[in-house]
Amino acid sequence: MNFKDCFFAFRNTLLPVIGEIETTPILRRLLEWFYNLPFFSLWNDMPDISEDEFRKLNEYINRLLQYEPIQYVTNTAYFFDRVFYVNKNVLIPRPETEELVRLLINNEGRADSCNNFSMNSLPSKLMLDIGTGSGCIPVTIKLELPNIDVLSIDVSFAAIDVARKNAVNLGADVHFEVDDVFHPKSIFGKKFDIIISNPPYVTQSEKSMMCRNVLDYEPPLALFVNDNNPLIYYQAIIDVARKFLSETGCIYLEINEHFGNQVAELLSAEGFSTVTMHKDINGRDRFVIASDFVRQTN
Ligand code: GLN
Repeated sequence: MNFKDCFFAFRNTLLPVIGEIETTPILRRLLEWFYNLPFFSLWNDMPDISEDEFRKLNEYINRLLQYEPIQYVTNTAYFFDRVFYVNKNVLIPRPETEELVRLLINNEGRADSCNNFSMNSLPSKLMLDIGTGSGCIPVTIKLELPNIDVLSIDVSFAAIDVARKNAVNLGADVHFEVDDVFHPKSIFGKKFDIIISNPPYVTQSEKSMMCRNVLDYEPPLALFVNDNNPLIYYQAIIDVARKFLSETGCIYLEINEHFGNQVAELLSAEGFSTVTMHKDINGRDRFVIASDFVRQTN
């Protein structure tokens, strides 16, 4: 079958469901992944589509028609220009989270305290990543800043499986443990220089504004918190910090844009004397960095 005819047939099928803006990029991604070739070369060379290929492609198109995210259909997602394996046990990495990682890399990658700018001169540090999911945060940080040793925890076995797979595929030496931030076991005896987390922060009441591709497919465990206690994970992270963050340590958090002030106030009230808020690319309060932790004595 002719490539262009199939392309337009698939496009017309997807258009009413997926819409004008996203149909073409999603279809291009599907075909690039299916043929493992860049789209421009497919478009140029126009491979003949066999019956068998057409049947398989149709199955994927049907999944997209059910609002399944393209990242789950292809089991791939891009993060920081790298390809991560994903499945429905982990959240699809978000562009906001790339920004969180960028903030950390900009701060921690500065060698100004070392008088020269070679990576090798950066002091080694220990980082704890809480709620790792696909592992996109720790794997990227380890690859960008090899001086940082990383322990990543997640309460989900299935997520840790995915994260481990990504660390192996991408050659990042990250240590993973299945562990629960509310009763952590794997971090005893450690002192971390950095804690980073993108915890669940979407309230149940925000569900009504969310799309089927998220609600029907992404793991609720990684997304939602109760409206009556939306900062529960931040409180647990602070409790971990109280015991396991070093004197000069620093926390990087992704937050719900509606709770920026509350998260910042909580961190200040718990003893962090420097708390800064950062907006994402859409101008929304999305990240908080806290440091200079003063332990209250009583
Ligand atoms: N930013 C994600 C979303 O809007 C939520 C991530 C999270 O809860 N940590 O779907």
